Order: sequence, then structure tokens, then C-alpha cells
Amino acid sequence: MDSETNFSTLQLTCPICDQSSVRLFRKNSYWIRECDRCHHQFSEQQPTAKSVSQIYDGQYFQGDGPGYIDYLAEAELLQQLGQYYAERLAYYVLPGSVLDVGAAAGFILQGLMTAGWRGEGLEPNPRLAEFGQQQLDLNMTVGTLENYPTQNRFDLVMMVQVIQHFYNLKLALHTASMVTKPGGFWLIETWDRSSVLARMRGQNWHAYTPPSRSHWFSPPGLERLVAQYGFQEVARGSPSKWMNGQYRKSVLRYQLMDKAWGKTLAQGLNWMPDQIKTPYIGGDIFWGLYQKAV
Ligand SMILES: [Zn+2]
Repeated sequence: MDSETNFSTLQLTCPICDQSSVRLFRKNSYWIRECDRCHHQFSEQQPTAKSVSQIYDGQYFQGDGPGYIDYLAEAELLQQLGQYYAERLAYYVLPGSVLDVGAAAGFILQGLMTAGWRGEGLEPNPRLAEFGQQQLDLNMTVGTLENYPTQNRFDLVMMVQVIQHFYNLKLALHTASMVTKPGGFWLIETWDRSSVLARMRGQNWHAYTPPSRSHWFSPPGLERLVAQYGFQEVARGSPSKWMNGQYRKSVLRYQLMDKAWGKTLAQGLNWMPDQIKTPYIGGDIFWGLYQKAV
């Protein structure tokens, strides 16, 4: 079975500004394209809903799979990341209701909740969602943002290390916008393709991992994108202190996708065991806080 034809659709125009794009280079046998106008970078082959549901159906986490154990071992770091974001948020908004998109087992959400936030975790992997529900007593929903019901309303939608994975970026953000109260916020964390590290590494930058990631943003590019949904940037930063856990979460998703896509684990993963124990100081991840117009 050819995963490329069954699990992807072709994206040739820029998903941010709809302009033409050119092929930049090939990675893991997938083309990465760049927009002629806004320079957004994206995978030519975008995953479909079907591929995402198969990828996250829990197979990877069956039994005591190594990924699952590794992820749970990161619990404390992820809770701390949640607290880190709660501290940043405190400058701009009182604790309220939050939807954590791609919540995994819910550790980041748990960190936010210790600061007074209450909320819901949305996670495509049923096993992780079940863990959050049963072990952490969190309110978890199995699913993707693209399929999320739009009648709920939140003060904050968290998208930590998830926007680059959306199989339908526009639909996902449309839904995110619908479920955000007027004056509410988005907190988005993703890789920064304009960072020094990314530019130094070029094609060898470790965040270029199609097909698991489909989009590579820069802070100004993301700002333009969220503006299309009526959101304005109010703060931006780099969570360098907590990069280790974040990095691991991201790598984990990469492994997960990679397995399901039937590709060999790429060369990029070979250096992972050495990197795990050391703090991640790449500075190639940024977060932005964006507020919806009242
Ligand atoms: Zn563009």
C-alpha cells in the first residue's frame, strides 16, 4: 500500500495567503514548498483526516510501548511547562476556561489547572486521553480540532506543538476561532523556521520532518495567519527553560506518525538518546499569545 496516495492530498498554493509556491527541497522523500509571497513553508503532501485517525488510534501506545513510558516519564517537565505558561498568561488574562488542543495525557493542562485554570483536553489518541481522564481526573475528549463541536466557548485555546500537525490548517483554526470567546486568547507554540539555528542548519534542521509535520512557521507568518481569524499578537517568547520536555513531546509525535506512515525511523532519530538527557537550548521554538477582537 502506498501511503503517499492513500494518506495525503497535494497542497501547491500557500495555506496562509493562497499565493503560488515553489519546491524548496526534498526531505524524507517529501517535498517542502515555500510561498512566493509570505515565505511560509509547508509540505507538498498534506495528511488527510483518515491518516490522522489511523495514526492516533492508539496502536503506538498499546501495551507498555516505549513511547508511552517515555511520555509519562516527562510528566513533571510538562506540568512545569503548563505552570510556565500560566505565569505568562497571568500578565494578560485571569484564569478561566481552557481547551488544550493535542493535550496528550494532559500534563500541561494539569500544570495550568494548578494556577486556577479549568478546562478540557482534546487528544486524538484514545489511550492518552483515557490516561488523563482516569489517572489525572481531567476532562478529556478524544478527537481533533478539525472535528471538534463548535458550540463550546473558552477563554483560552492552547495549541502547544500542535499547529504544525493539523491536517486541515484552515478548518482547525476556524474551529479554534469559533470556540474562543470574544476577547479570548490563543496560546500557540511551534518551531521557528526563522531562528538562527534553523537557518544555520538549513535542510538539516531537525524540525524538517515531513510527513509528521506539515508547516514551518515564523513569528511574523503566524501573526499574519491568526489575523485572518481576527486575532492580534499581544505577547511572544521562547520557552527555552522547558525545552527538554517540549522537545520530547514533539519527537514522540514524530515517532508516532512515522510508524503509522510506514516509513523507517528517519536518520534524525538516531541522535535522540544523547539529546534526551541534556537541556534543549536550540532557541528554535517560540510561543505567541494572540487575542481575539471583542
Ligand atoms: Zn503565503
